[in-house]
Amino acid sequence: RVGSESMTGRFAPTPSGRMHVGNVYAMLAAWLSARARGRRMLLRIEDVDKPRVLPGADRLMMDDLTWLGLDWNGGPVYQSSAERQSRYAYALECLRSAVYPCFCSRADIRAASAPNEGDGFTIYPGTCRHVFEENPETVSGRVTRGDRHSLRIVMPDVSDSNAAVCFDDAVFGWQSFNLPREVGDSVVRRADGLFGYQLVVVVDDLDMGVDDIVRGRDLLRSTALQIWIRQCLLAGGFVPERPASGDAACETSRETFCETPRETDAGAAVSPVQPQYAHLPLINNAVGRRLAKRERSLDMGALRARGVRPEQIIGYCAWLLRLRSSPVPCRAADLLDGFSWTGLRNDHADRELNPADPNTP
Ligand code: GLU
Repeated sequence: RVGSESMTGRFAPTPSGRMHVGNVYAMLAAWLSARARGRRMLLRIEDVDKPRVLPGADRLMMDDLTWLGLDWNGGPVYQSSAERQSRYAYALECLRSAVYPCFCSRADIRAASAPNEGDGFTIYPGTCRHVFEENPETVSGRVTRGDRHSLRIVMPDVSDSNAAVCFDDAVFGWQSFNLPREVGDSVVRRADGLFGYQLVVVVDDLDMGVDDIVRGRDLLRSTALQIWIRQCLLAGGFVPERPASGDAACETSRETFCETPRETDAGAAVSPVQPQYAHLPLINNAVGRRLAKRERSLDMGALRARGVRPEQIIGYCAWLLRLRSSPVPCRAADLLDGFSWTGLRNDHADRELNPADPNTP
């Protein structure tokens, strides 16, 4: 692949609590993916959703990452910073013709939608989009009156050739999502005025030149949405602050849409290189629920207080990532040589952690 030596990875933790083993496993995977190939690694604190932020959690995360031997380049980027907020506002400007106001409450949407599949997605039934298309003056009247509303980005129609988004995931293989059927018009600015998570991740990754994205498999469907948002932003004239560098920046994202590869002629918009994705199996607790930051016994504070060594945690996570055949202690740097996704690709069932198991740190 063109320009892979100039690629950039990132840690993107949400500072909603102390990291647990599942978070460390994701951070280690992202770090190895970037560092094993000599890439830059950036740190972004995903604090856009202010109500979820726990004060001080960012400092503890950085301290834990350093203690674990996982380093990054430059200072952390905070989504809540004035600089980032003005970039998100600029991005929304670029999306002007692709969004519409939505006045529905969560309850309205729940009542009108099919049940979601556990990754938090509720496919919006398009109620306000129809009003916007049929009675735009009613909608602008409500906006002028100050009625509370979010902004949603429009998905292509089912019959459009770009309705399906595809990407080749390093762990889960070829993925294809039908945007109108499996994603639906999605919130890019919330009714409380905060920028939507799905928008800011795309803007940040574009601005930071990130093209190596490693995260949990619960975000597979979000990836399809983020690829679409990215295309809409670039089509709307969005200029990244730091596009993915080198030759890679001139490569069009050929794999994005299943049926219509984008033209490469001079008239067509040239986009920054399509990121590479690796989604990871989820880590569940002993009763099959995804580990949450409130699960104190496996959080970094508890582990460090119990005297657990960083090598034990890294070795355990390396085993979860199928980089080692057993959870023997090792340093992160020991895993760089020969790092590959093959073991995980061959065994990508969700993992179950049992704190009673003597191997669990
Ligand atoms: N902030 C997200 C999390 O902590 C990660 C999002 C991403 O990697 O894109 O789960």
